[in-house]
Amino acid sequence: MRIGIFGGTFDPIHLGHLRLAEETREQLQLDRVLFVPNNVSPFKDEAMVTPGERRIEMIWRAVADNPHFEVSAVEVRRPGPSYAIDTLRALRAECPVGDFFFLTGTDAVRDLAGWREPEALMREARFVAACRPGTEPDEVRNALPPHWAERVTFIAMPGLDISATDLRARVRARRSITYLVPRAVEEYILANGLYSDRAPQEDIS
Ligand code: ATP
Repeated sequence: MRIGIFGGTFDPIHLGHLRLAEETREQLQLDRVLFVPNNVSPFKDEAMVTPGERRIEMIWRAVADNPHFEVSAVEVRRPGPSYAIDTLRALRAECPVGDFFFLTGTDAVRDLAGWREPEALMREARFVAACRPGTEPDEVRNALPPHWAERVTFIAMPGLDISATDLRARVRARRSITYLVPRAVEEYILANGLYSDRAPQEDIS
């Protein structure tokens, strides 16, 4: 079983994430891709992040029609910062024989040295870096120590210059996010007043 593990904040999930997962699934013949939203990113400000249950709900809505894609609450349930190495070890305990591929964009791989236990990470899973607009894959590859670079597979994908940061800003400015996120995600964001200062966000619907 070839399993893709796609960690991120997904606040919100968007078509850049979904296309990355689909390109990787196809090019590396993955059986499943598990989207794993973090509880607290070691790299982001916790107070600004939408509650995990809501981010899970949006992912679930985004992947509901894809039999290869699933959502995992393993990081959202674990208190404190979400380190990829802890997640890979937890998933390995559940699935001792699977081949693990950790999905990222080139911007994330560029910063691998700042992750917790990077050497152990590279042993636990092969890394996949999908090309994200704004980063040059060759530069990212050349900046990695050679024994890491050989564990990273670079994936070409149509450049989708979409970021969750930009989507949140658009919603706050009452601008459209249509065709940047799946329709069901857009509806959920608008119905629940996410990313807008106008509506309460406490009740999960
Ligand atoms: P934010 O703008 O809030 O930082 P983001 O859009 O970068 O969020 P994350 O949840 O932080 O989304 O990203 C998770 C992973 O997906 C990262 O490895 C990132 O490199 C990758 N990724 C995100 N957006 C794209 C995109 N448009 N193209 C390719 N990879 C992407």
